Amino acid sequence: MRRMAFRSESEVSNPRSVSGGVKSMLFDILTLFPGLFFGVFDESIVRRAIEAGIISIRIHNIRDYAEGRHSMTDDAPYGGGGGMVMKPEPIFRAVEHVLTSQGQQAGAGAGARVILLSPQGRPLTQQIACELSRWEHLLLICGRYEGVDERVREHLITDEISIGDYVLSGGEIPAMVIVEAVTRLIPGVLGDPGATFEDSHMEGLLEYPHYTRPAEYRDWEVPEVLLSGDHALVVQWRREEALRRTFERRPELLSKATLSERDKEFLRRLGAGV
Ligand code: SAM
Repeated sequence: MRRMAFRSESEVSNPRSVSGGVKSMLFDILTLFPGLFFGVFDESIVRRAIEAGIISIRIHNIRDYAEGRHSMTDDAPYGGGGGMVMKPEPIFRAVEHVLTSQGQQAGAGAGARVILLSPQGRPLTQQIACELSRWEHLLLICGRYEGVDERVREHLITDEISIGDYVLSGGEIPAMVIVEAVTRLIPGVLGDPGATFEDSHMEGLLEYPHYTRPAEYRDWEVPEVLLSGDHALVVQWRREEALRRTFERRPELLSKATLSERDKEFLRRLGAGV
């Protein structure tokens, strides 16, 4: 049987027990479909971060917090109409249980953010991922059906985040997106601490193109400057390619990027109005 790197609710660990002074983060995910997470967190960087003790992930089945013989987690909407709505009580109970088990409160001045995944939330950006990576505890609530009772949104959560302007059937994939985007920003997770600095969207630009061996493939050659061994020239080429790409593909990003006079001169030559 394969060993899962992340934990079910019954295997609660201390998220702060990390050696070497490296910051650690706890993700608690509340879902009606815990099985969806198996495999995704069990490979690659997320798994390594768990094994290194830099993050802990616990998956909680919202149904375990439902009461009554049928453990109902959803009900018909008041006012009629199709679809079902996730009931507030199991979600409140689950969040409150998780927070008190960590001796925490949610929100400003506390260590935890309680995030509802929702197509109506703030669109996720790299900047939001950076903000979230500075917290020690993120609770992610995955909606299903028509979504959650509005009182969850009004009285329980600190954030509502969307992964884009489209509608999925549940918040599980958005929760995975947040875990992945945030985890790679936590110091110690990537082998090279500078690996994320030049990533697309970190500084408001798209990243420059990458090449690896062979230097020539089917008559397509790697740009000569990359083979030159001249570090300063490579740095300049990469900067200009990042600017060119951003201008060609996402020109609206340039208005928020930090640009030097030299960057602006280069962009003007391309026809940008900066
Ligand atoms: N009726 C809702 C609406 O129109 O806003 C959509 C509900 S959707 C079918 C069910 C759940 O999927 C949501 O509660 C949310 O948790 C999740 N979800 C769907 N699309 C999402 C998105 N773009 N970003 C984040 N979560 C999303």
